[in-house]
Amino acid sequence: MAPFKTNLKLAHQGLVLVSIPLVFELVFVLSLSGLQHQTEIEAARLSRSKDILTEVNILASLFYEAVTTNITAAAGKTAALNNRFDDVVKRIRDHLGALHSLTGGERNQTAAMMRFERTVDRTLRLLNQVHESVDKGAWQDINIEESQQLLSELVADLRVVSRKQTETQRESSENERKARRLVQQCVFAGVAVNVLLALALVVYFNKSTAARLKILMENTLKLGRRERLSPALIGTDELAHLDQTIHRMAEELELAIKKERAILDNASDVICSIDSLGNFTAVNPAATDVLGYEPNELIGKSSVRIVLPAALQSTERALNSIIQNKSTGTFENQMKHKDGRPIDTLWSAHWSEDEQQLFCVIHDISASKEMLRVKQQFVSTLSHDLRAPLSSLKVMHASLIKGVYGQVPEAASAKLQSANLELVRLIALINDLLEIEKMESGKLEMEIRDVLIQSVFDQTANAIGASAEEAGIELVINPCDAVIKADERRLVQVMVNLVGNAVKFSTSGKSVVLIACRQDLHLKVEVKDFGRGIPESKLSAIFDRFGQVESADATEKGGTGLGLAICKAIVEQLGGEIGVRSKLDSGSIFWFTVPLS
Ligand code: ADP
Repeated sequence: MAPFKTNLKLAHQGLVLVSIPLVFELVFVLSLSGLQHQTEIEAARLSRSKDILTEVNILASLFYEAVTTNITAAAGKTAALNNRFDDVVKRIRDHLGALHSLTGGERNQTAAMMRFERTVDRTLRLLNQVHESVDKGAWQDINIEESQQLLSELVADLRVVSRKQTETQRESSENERKARRLVQQCVFAGVAVNVLLALALVVYFNKSTAARLKILMENTLKLGRRERLSPALIGTDELAHLDQTIHRMAEELELAIKKERAILDNASDVICSIDSLGNFTAVNPAATDVLGYEPNELIGKSSVRIVLPAALQSTERALNSIIQNKSTGTFENQMKHKDGRPIDTLWSAHWSEDEQQLFCVIHDISASKEMLRVKQQFVSTLSHDLRAPLSSLKVMHASLIKGVYGQVPEAASAKLQSANLELVRLIALINDLLEIEKMESGKLEMEIRDVLIQSVFDQTANAIGASAEEAGIELVINPCDAVIKADERRLVQVMVNLVGNAVKFSTSGKSVVLIACRQDLHLKVEVKDFGRGIPESKLSAIFDRFGQVESADATEKGGTGLGLAICKAIVEQLGGEIGVRSKLDSGSIFWFTVPLS
């Protein structure tokens, strides 16, 4: 059964399903009770008519009794007969009253009854006159003709009344029969309409709700199975909205899958999944570039097959540990390219317990390994082949300037001095580079112990004091008794660099302030100057190697641009953080934190 479009909300559909039968039942019950009422009215009319007839019969017999009482009294008058006459007259009046109230509502009886009542009145008057004449023995006063005439009028009226009642009874029982038949028909029609209505509502419910719900559920299941969905339900009710949402979800899912596939297909790293037996279950096309194998050549094959024998054990150990810990891990190993050459790789693997698969990203690090090797070579060239001769050159220059090898001309001495300054800068640069190299390769050893921050401040003042004084800068140190956990020599190196910069970038007459304050488990040290400040765009770059605000800072101020990078490496290795707040032309606050003892 095909569902149809509906704009009715579910609540309104429910209302339709409940209210239609309810309204019908109400109409049905009201009609039935109307018909029932009609039947009852006819039954009451019938019964009243029977009562009227009874009253008419009683009145007829009472008149008969009154006449016979008069006749009997004419034969021999007694007190008992007098009483009986009075009693009969009284009863006639009572029954006349009862008849009057019974026929009160009868439209077709009013005229006949009025005439009948008048005749009864006249007859009663006449009977009384006759009775008095009999009582007095005045027989000549009795008008026999008038009596006969009145009695026959009375009989005629009685007949009229009883005929009317007979008609009423016939009419009432006919009406009652009709009403009963109507009730019966109404009940049958009601039952039939009820059944039809129920069927129609079932069809409506099926089309509007059940069939649409079924499609909705099918679409939900199809979405889960990633199958093509049935066309979206049309309409504006909740089910249509829900189904349209499911369709939108399916479209977005499809898009996301396409994007994911595009990422997988275009990734430069090998992305693959490996089952619990160590066999590839899926591999992206990057395998061709990185390992020289087409994905199809790898799927179903053992992953360790393409690991170099020397790295086999460590690879198996690393993968097993990730599987056992149900975790994610990274490790390096060497793999074998299809053409036989070794490749250095970095694996990031994640074990999925649900899918019982390892999801891995294999990154080719051969180039960076080669770079590292070249860098190490460069560092050793720097330290052995460059620093040593430069240091001898510097000593030689110093000797020449001092005149150890005889007096040099004044012009040559000035040139020698500036060449010597350049040499000093070059050696400082080489030292800084070697130091950073040591730090990055984790070769920088730290002697962590309890250190008084005041002692660090004092040593910094000793190192910088003279140059600060020479530059006309006042060094203000706020005393602090905090004890920190640090390598004292390295921390002094950090402080000397920060305070040195503060002096270097301040103008004469300004001051540089050193403050330390406790912050939870750390001590925060601030070096505040009122110098030229640093533009916001350069705030983070100055902590990078060779990061300088202005290119002239290297030549004019004699810096290498490596000091802050070294400070950052030292502070982070000590377990702290480093940063700067600055306002151009107002000064800077360089700060760092170190753990308290
Ligand atoms: P160097 O001072 O040897 O150039 P640093 O790494 O110590 O190297 O500093 C990097 C750069 O940061 C400096 O060249 C300078 O441009 C900027 N800088 C550092 N400290 C300050 C300061 N207190 N005020 C202004 N600029 C500063």
